Formats: sequence, structure tokens, C-alpha cells
Amino acid sequence: MKLFNTLSREISELTPLDGNQFRMYVCGPTVYGPAHIGNFITFTRADILYRTLKVAGLNPYYVRNITDVDDKTIRSSQEQGMTLSAFTEKWTTKFHEDCALLNLLIPDVEPRATEHIPEQIDIVQKLMDKGHAYQGADGSVYYRVKSFCCYGKLSHFDPEELRTQDTNSAGRANDADEYERDNVADFALWKARKPEDGDNYWESPWGQGRPGWHLECSAMSIKYLGETFDLHAGGEDLCFPHHENEIAQSEAATGKEFCRHWMHSTHLMVEGKKMSKSLGNFFVLQDLLDKGYSAMAIRMAFLNGHYRQQLNFTFNGLDAATSALGKLAEMLEKILPEGKELSDYRGGIVSDFGSLSNAWMALSNDLNTPAALGAMFSALKKLAKTKPQVEALEVDLKAIAALTYALGLEVEVASLRKQQEAKPVVEVPADIAALAEKRSEAKKAKDWGTADALRQELQEKGWKIIDTREGYSVEPC
Ligand SMILES: [Zn+2]
Repeated sequence: MKLFNTLSREISELTPLDGNQFRMYVCGPTVYGPAHIGNFITFTRADILYRTLKVAGLNPYYVRNITDVDDKTIRSSQEQGMTLSAFTEKWTTKFHEDCALLNLLIPDVEPRATEHIPEQIDIVQKLMDKGHAYQGADGSVYYRVKSFCCYGKLSHFDPEELRTQDTNSAGRANDADEYERDNVADFALWKARKPEDGDNYWESPWGQGRPGWHLECSAMSIKYLGETFDLHAGGEDLCFPHHENEIAQSEAATGKEFCRHWMHSTHLMVEGKKMSKSLGNFFVLQDLLDKGYSAMAIRMAFLNGHYRQQLNFTFNGLDAATSALGKLAEMLEKILPEGKELSDYRGGIVSDFGSLSNAWMALSNDLNTPAALGAMFSALKKLAKTKPQVEALEVDLKAIAALTYALGLEVEVASLRKQQEAKPVVEVPADIAALAEKRSEAKKAKDWGTADALRQELQEKGWKIIDTREGYSVEPC
């Protein structure tokens, strides 16, 4: 299993540091409203990584946090007259519902920032003790960027060029007063209580306040994964400053390498443009469900882009994803033995991917989901056509089951079979049958003009021809 590492700028093999468990951390949502599809493509890609690591036998352990305190959550909860915890609970529940619809696996741990205040204070204390942090005139505690040897190593950027980087979890600059800090590049570890924070503050050795946003991820990843762990992922906008700051805080506090491998997911475009409310192309999951698309089709549309390339998410793409799912079900219906579902072939480590080897190679080499999908579809097409004996098929069925699991695609064949059984038998009138036969002969003779004209004539009479592997069938339109 190989993946591009933002830190080294190379594709490298993923291996668990402890030789047993692959420990990964993903920056989760800030819960102040429904997550949009741009958030969900990042979480879906992290989910595919987690699933693929499982299939690859790397025994992943997955932590994804919930940011339940920051400027936005505090402000929005106050606007709605709710306590911060009731407000963030509501949106955490909504987030979990959306995740379930998109078939995202539940992480092993999902820690919340407000439940880890002592752990965060502990890191600030260590940084104070070691001279990496100082208390500003406003009472907030800041990280001294110049005190850390390697600031900029992840985003490959010169700290001398830094102007200001006090951003919130939405990546927007705060209007924080820059004069409180020794250097504009320094960022807040602990924010002193302000009147507008209301009741949302905690006691600390530096007075009442709340943690800066970057700190929670350092504290919670170290708590659940150890001082050095295997992989950290998030959206590309988090690379700087959020992840850079996590490295600075963690490595200065522990004296150890924080994380070995960094994965960043590129943002999507919607209908060729950056998603924004003013352009009318800003969608949360529910907006797309309301338009009649299934969550599985949305997931399928996400898979059509490699995580390091910008995906243009369009309604045409969603239509194509919907029909691709239909095709997938049809092919599986032909391949799967009677009464079986793909889930019957799941479980255990798959060592032989049979005729699906190319698809697995694409997925396990830098999570190339579009290439994996393409290879899987062409392998399935062949299998559906030739349908090998059950014994020979066993390897392929296990491979298909493992691959669809890694991609998180759930396709149920039983309902399709029921639909087909339920189809009423229609008597085809003799003149229609004769026209269809004439059209078939014209097609065989490669007389496309006549064949098209006959198809058109049938259509006008209310019948359509469906070309099948065996020849054709006629159905009412
Ligand atoms: Zn984070």
C-alpha cells in the first residue's frame, strides 16, 4: 500500500511504526451546521483510505475529532439561544446521520475538543516550560514560531515570509489584535476569555479562556495514537497553517517526530466553479438528496476524482454515477450465484485479486479511485459475459467483495432480481415482432440507415428494442 506523503513529496510505502497497528488521525468537522459536499469528499477519501488499509491487512486504528468549540460554534449557539454543548450535539448528530448515508465507517475513536481541555493545557504548559510559548499582553498564550527549528517543513514555506496566520477552523483570518504578539507569525495556543465568549471558558494556569483551534488535534492525536503516529489526513486547506502548527506544537512539546505521513485531499469544484453560496453551487448532502440523487450515487461521483486532483463535481457526473451504479448491480446480478450477495464473500485477508488485480493495484497505489473503478468495471464486464465456473469464480468474487468494500460501494442484487421476476410478460403483436426482426437483419447486414429507421418506426408505434447479448428483446416504451 503506497501513498503520496506531503512531508517528503514522494509516494512511499505505508507501514505501521509499531509493526502491528497503522495509527491514523483525520481532522474532523467543526459542528456548527450541516457539513457541505466539499467537507464530505475529504471525509469520504479518508474513509476509503481506512477501508483500503483494512483490506491491505494493515490493521488501521482511526481517530477523527469533533471540533465543538471555536468562534463559529460559540457565535452560532448564542444566536440560537442554545448552550454550546446542546448546539454542537445537535450538529454532531446530523453529521453522523450524513456519514451513515454516505456509508462512512465509524472511526475507532471520535474525541471532542471540549472533553480534552486538561490534555490541551498540559501541552501549553510543556511549551511554556521549554520556552516555546509566552503569555501576551492580552492574557492569551502564543506559540513562538521562531523558537522551532523546522517551522514550514510540511507546507514547504519560509517562516520569514509569514505575515499573519491567525486563522480559525474555517481557514479565514481572524481579526485578532496583532500587537499582542511578539511576532505576527505567532499563533494562539490559549485564548484569554473575552466578554463575547459568554459562559464558554475554562480555568487554566494563565487565567480563564479556551484553547486555540490548532491545539486540540495535537492533544487528541497524541492521547489516542501516541507521541509519534503513522498518518495524519485532512483537506488541503488544513496543510497550512493548521497542520504546520500541529507539528510545531507537538514536536516542540514532545521532542519527537509527530507524524510520519501526511495526506491532503484536494478540494472539489462544483459545475466548474469554486463552491460558494453566492454562485448558487453550494450544496450540503440534503440538497442533493432532495434533488432525487442517492447518497451512494454521490459517493460514486466522489470516486471519479483522484484525491490529489481537482474533481469537477457536476449534475451530469451525478447522473453518470447513478447509471454506473445500476450497471454495477446488473453485472453483479449476472456474476453472483443464485441467492448470493457480495457481502457473502467478504471477510479475511484477500491475497489473490484474480482478474481484479489491476483494480486493486490502482487503489493500493496512491488511492487511484478513478483508475480502480475503470479496471473493476472492465473486469466485471468480462466476467458477466463469460461467467466462469463457480470454483474459478470464487477468487474473483472475493476480490470484487473486497474492492467494493474498500471503495465503500454497497450494491444489493436481491432487489434487482425481484424486480426482474416481477416484470409482467407482455405479448408482442406479430407486426411489431416482424418489424423488430427486419431491424435485426438490417443491423446484422450493417445497414445502419434502415436499422435506425426501423427502430424509429417501432418507437412511434410505442415499442422499444433492447439489444442484449443473445440478440434483442422488444418492450413497450
Ligand atoms: Zn486538525
